[in-house]
Amino acid sequence: MINESNHAGGCRCGAVRFEAAAEPEHISYCHCADCRRATGAPVSAFVGFAADTVSLTGEKLKSFDNGPVTRSFCGVCGSPVAYADGRIGERIYFMLGAMDTPETYKPTLHAHVREQLPYLHMPDSLPRHVKSGVPRPQA
Ligand SMILES: [Zn+2]
Ligand SMILES: [Zn+2]
Repeated sequence: MINESNHAGGCRCGAVRFEAAAEPEHISYCHCADCRRATGAPVSAFVGFAADTVSLTGEKLKSFDNGPVTRSFCGVCGSPVAYADGRIGERIYFMLGAMDTPETYKPTLHAHVREQLPYLHMPDSLPRHVKSGVPRPQA
C-alpha cells in the first residue's frame, strides 16, 4: 500500500515506481567493479531499506543474478533501480540516483575502496571500507 512516505523513487521513464514506509537502514557509496559495470558510472551509491517496508508499483522490474546478488532494472528504459544480496538478508538497496530527492540521502561510508578508480577523488571524512560496509557471513 502506498502511503505518504517521503522515501519514494523510480526509474528514468517512470514505468517503475517504489516507496519505502520506513527510514533507510544504510546509505553508502560503492566503488566495486561489479557496480561499475552494472551502472556505467565510476562510483555508485545506494539507499538500503528493509525489504518488507518497500512497495513497488507500475512495471515489474527485470533482474539479473550474479551469484547471490540480484540487480534490478526497468525493462522499458533500462535504468538500474535496485540490488539485493541473498547473503545479507531481507534488504533492498535502491540506486541513490533513483530516489526522488537524492540530495536527502547523504552516504555515510565508502565501500570497496580498493577498487576505487585512481583518478576519482572524494575528499570527505567518511569511513572507507576495503570491502563491503555491510558484514556478510564468510563463505
Ligand atoms: Zn523506466
Ligand atoms: Zn558495488
